[in-house]
This record gives sequence, C-alpha cells and structure tokens, in this order.
Amino acid sequence: MKRSKLLVILAVCMLLSLSSLVACSGNHFHAYGNWEIAAESAEAETVTAIRSCECGVSESRELPAFTDAEFWALESAQNDHFQAGYKIFTCVYGQIRFDYAIIETQFGDWFIAQDPDLENTGVYKRECACCDLEETETIPALSDTICWTITEEVQNSHLAAGHITYSSEYGQVVIDLPQIMEHNYDGTYVIIAGNEPTLTETGLAKGKCECGEEDEIVVPALQDESCWNCIYYVVPNAEKETDGKAIYESVFGRIEIRIPWQA
Ligand SMILES: [Zn+2]
Ligand SMILES: [Zn+2]
Ligand SMILES: [Zn+2]
Repeated sequence: MKRSKLLVILAVCMLLSLSSLVACSGNHFHAYGNWEIAAESAEAETVTAIRSCECGVSESRELPAFTDAEFWALESAQNDHFQAGYKIFTCVYGQIRFDYAIIETQFGDWFIAQDPDLENTGVYKRECACCDLEETETIPALSDTICWTITEEVQNSHLAAGHITYSSEYGQVVIDLPQIMEHNYDGTYVIIAGNEPTLTETGLAKGKCECGEEDEIVVPALQDESCWNCIYYVVPNAEKETDGKAIYESVFGRIEIRIPWQA
C-alpha cells in the first residue's frame, strides 16, 4: 500500500514536469493588434505601419508618402482664421489624422481706403497680412462736423490752386481746390489812346487779367445808350459861333467830345 502510493505520486510528478517542459520550449504564435500608422506630419516622406504583440515583438512596414494618391485616400478641411482644419489619410492599414489649429489673424493698422467728400461717406479698412481678409468701417461724410474739423484752408485763385484739410480720428482728408483757369478782365478795360469811340464810330479798349494776359475789345459808339450815359451837354450856338460839348460816361471811363457849331 505504501509503495503504490509512492508510485502514484511519482507518476504525477513526472507528468507535471513533462508538461512544464512542453510549455518552456513550445511555439508562441504572436497575436498582433491592429496596424498603427506613424508619420511626423502630412508632409513626411517616411510613413510606417506598425503592429505589436503583447509579448513586445512588433513588425513594421514602410508605406508610400501621403502624396501617393493611389495608395492614400484623403479627407480634409483647410484651417483658416475661422475654423480648425484636418487631414485624414486612409489606406488598407488604417488611417492617420493630422489636426491644424485656427490661424491667428495678422491685421495691419486701420487706414482710409476711400476718402469721403462733402456728400459721400468714405471707407476705413484694415487688411490681414496673410490672406485677403479685411475689415471695413464707414467714415462719415466731410459735412459731418461732429466727426470732421477743418484744420487748414488755402483758398484757390486764378493764380494758384488751394486746398482744405479735414482732420478726424480716422486721419486727414485733403480736398483740392483747383486753380481757376478763366481769365478775368472785369473792371480793367481802358480805352487805347488814339482809338476813342466817337458819336457814331466804335473804339478799342484793352483789359488786363491779374495773370498778365491782355484782351482787346470793341468799345461801342457814344450814341449807344446801352453802354454810354451822357452826363453833361452844352448845345452849340451858331449865332455866337460857340461849339457845344458833351461828356459821356461808361465802364470805360469818361469821354468828352466837342460839338461844332458849324454843321
Ligand atoms: Zn508575441
Ligand atoms: Zn489672413
Ligand atoms: Zn488770367
């Protein structure tokens, strides 16, 4: 009895040691997880797919770059100043996603993009340095005295141009006043000596503009009442054989004529 019990214990021990031998030397089939795709960025030239077993062993495959459109399917959204973006590359090994944050705007200083004038409003603008994004505001017309103050005023004339400078928190707007091109001879005509009009004949007068330009015009005969006004008249006297005389006045000045008593 004691002997058979020993035999059984021996047999169990042998079985146990045999099975542990099998476990130590037998094949382990790696149970790999899913492929994981690794790349530094969407522009990376090296793209790798890796999968690992729990035992620590892993295997990897080199994949084409993301530019290979036959291998990779791309789904993407461009990031800008208003939304984040992403790129998702998908292939038979799985997919990889790259995210792109919202881009900060790079607005420059505000400036007057369109001058207002007395009737029309203007445009105040600032532009982003990295894209064509812009922000605008309406600038009140120059007639808005709450907004605009005249800080310089140079009147235009026939001899020179002028300008008016309006200032506000938006900046300055200069309204140019063009030089007056028309010559002005008003009040400058004087009768040319030797060309005085007579009662029936016209005369000649010369005018001079402030710019130096001269002008010559016909002076109506003295009998033209639309031009001349007779302010003094002495009737000729045939009996006394005395001449008469008349003084005419107009914008051209005064002219005195003698009226002979002999017809
Ligand atoms: Zn393994
Ligand atoms: Zn931009
Ligand atoms: Zn002139």
